[in-house]
Amino acid sequence: MNNHFPRPKILVSRCLGFAACRYDGQILKNGFVDQLKDHVDLIAVCPETDCGLGIPRAPIRLCRSDQGLVVYQPATGQEVTAQLQATINAILADHPQVDGALLKSKSPSCGLFDTKIYRGIEKPQPLGKGAGLFGHQVFRRYAGTAIEDEMRLTNQILREHFLIKMFTLARFRLLCEQPTMGALVAFHANHKLLFLAYNQSRFRLAGKIVANHERLPAAEVAQNYRLELARILEAPMRIPGVINTLFHALGWVSQHLGTEEKHHVINTIEEYRDERLPLQAVTRLIEAHALRFANNYLLSQVFLRPYPRALAGLHDSGRGRAVR
Ligand code: SF4
Repeated sequence: MNNHFPRPKILVSRCLGFAACRYDGQILKNGFVDQLKDHVDLIAVCPETDCGLGIPRAPIRLCRSDQGLVVYQPATGQEVTAQLQATINAILADHPQVDGALLKSKSPSCGLFDTKIYRGIEKPQPLGKGAGLFGHQVFRRYAGTAIEDEMRLTNQILREHFLIKMFTLARFRLLCEQPTMGALVAFHANHKLLFLAYNQSRFRLAGKIVANHERLPAAEVAQNYRLELARILEAPMRIPGVINTLFHALGWVSQHLGTEEKHHVINTIEEYRDERLPLQAVTRLIEAHALRFANNYLLSQVFLRPYPRALAGLHDSGRGRAVR
């Protein structure tokens, strides 16, 4: 059974439970970050305090100018782009390989999607929203990894996708430390059901890469596979793909089940389709049958246990499956 999990390496905004480093001297309690601490190597960073802006400090503002994004501190009239950028460069250089980032929403530094961007220090009207100075560079430097803010992770689907992605990427990162064709083939095989649920056509393309008909060195195959892996995990699983995969999994034990037992599993899958049950309810049921009939194929599948059970949670911001 898949009980061994790697420890993903994740950059996290330091104000999310690590230090009282916000501009107003506050710390933000975040239950999800607290949960992660036992299972993930969290690298807490704060570009604003590390660049010497102090705590507390006058708020800064992200503005678009002819030179690109610039950061002003309206209360002092100072532009602080260069000092903030130097610290961001140092953070990125110190952490060349991470499996993702969990950053503070709306911040002019750490924001990823919803930071207010202004016209300039003299023009206080916001132009729109986007990534903060650090968030923007995290997207570029760590493209393809699990990157989210704490607000979006209150949505259960995005949170589950974030967890699956970071643990899968961490597993692959460890494999790449000493890549062998055997390890790559085993990785692909153990993730078969998970990747089928995510993206069937991309899963097949990844299969061609590990088939390695060109007889490339394992390190080169791993590099090519990593690109396809990022595409497979680009967006959360979609319900039709998950349903197909659940029926595929059921096929591995169905010959041992009586008619009523089989109907029970099928009804459970239907309840998941109708949003009356979470995916975990179905995968646990299939896992129980896999254990009962010692089906080692199913038990080896990451799909049934993609991340530590202690991190599973059903709390949701209420935006449901519509959020992608
Ligand atoms: S949002 Fe980022 S820059 Fe702002 S206090 Fe938190 S960690 Fe520091």
